[in-house]
Amino acid sequence: MPGESETTPVPGPGLGLGPRSWDTQCCVVGGGPAGMMLGYLLARAGVEVTVLEKHADFFRDFRGDTIHPATTDVLAELGLLEEFLSLPHTEIPELRLGIDGQTFGLVDFRHLPSRCKFMAFMPQWDFLTFLATQAMQYPAFRLEMSTEATGLLRHGEQVIGVRARTPQGEVEIRADLTVACDGRFSLIREHADLPLREFAMPIDVLWFRVPRSEDAPPTLGYLGGGQIVLAIDRGDYWQCGTIIGKGTLRRFRPRGWPPSATGWHVPHRSWPPAWPR
Ligand SMILES: Cc1cc2nc3c(=O)[nH]c(=O)nc-3n(C[C@H](O)[C@H](O)[C@H](O)COP(=O)(O)OP(=O)(O)OC[C@H]3O[C@@H](n4cnc5c(N)ncnc54)[C@H](O)[C@@H]3O)c2cc1C
Repeated sequence: MPGESETTPVPGPGLGLGPRSWDTQCCVVGGGPAGMMLGYLLARAGVEVTVLEKHADFFRDFRGDTIHPATTDVLAELGLLEEFLSLPHTEIPELRLGIDGQTFGLVDFRHLPSRCKFMAFMPQWDFLTFLATQAMQYPAFRLEMSTEATGLLRHGEQVIGVRARTPQGEVEIRADLTVACDGRFSLIREHADLPLREFAMPIDVLWFRVPRSEDAPPTLGYLGGGQIVLAIDRGDYWQCGTIIGKGTLRRFRPRGWPPSATGWHVPHRSWPPAWPR
């Protein structure tokens, strides 16, 4: 439950005391795909919206790159597809899988009844920057970067906005509606005491990078030795992911794969890499 300190009387305007504050119709906490798209849609519909993002930019290494045909259909409906496709991206009409040295077709998007018959690869930070740029064309949109929501503002039982930390100090954003789009470890969900349903997941995905050699085939996945490895082309390296048993990460540690700030770096001796057993 939120603490007493979260219960704030509606602050009076213009006293020049306490945190900087402003009013909006909707405050969206979190500038990920959910928050940015919601911010865009609301601003486009004329609803005043402030999106808060705790980071200074959208750069997240090791995030998803794939924009699926269902998403490009939505972009087409919004009239954004042409501009989206003018940004650097890769179009994959089919996914291939390598099994013991042979490659096979796994998924073929060309059969889909969608506008784009391919999966697009675009770094998530470019996609979010694109959404932000589109949203900023609407005067109702406000994006506050480096602004981390730290708690809810309440008036009695009612949530009336959020309190946030910025490099310039505390701010209070009062809103008719507050939306938690702050990801899977959502602080706003926790402070609002919203129920969380957890699903038991017997696996983790271990992400790491492998330097990209010129002769590596453009295969997206490899199967062999009881392991599957997904490989996303990031230009000068592959972003790779493999499925491991839940909680088994420590088994990999003594094998000389020290964690780094951006993931796991695997010495590139063979392709695909050999897996510890
Ligand atoms: C390694 C990896 C690979 C993935 N690959 C794919 C893929 O290929 N295709 C795909 O479709 N999906 C992929 N996903 C899933 C996809 O990234 C998520 O589903 C998606 O990012 C969820 O969007 P979201 O906006 O709900 O949350 P998030 O993307 O987590 O965004 C939440 C945002 O809120 C901000 N935030 C958090 N707390 C606060 C706070 N207190 N105040 C202000 N801001 C805050 C965070 O900085 C973040 O920007 C991948 C995920 C991971 C981890």
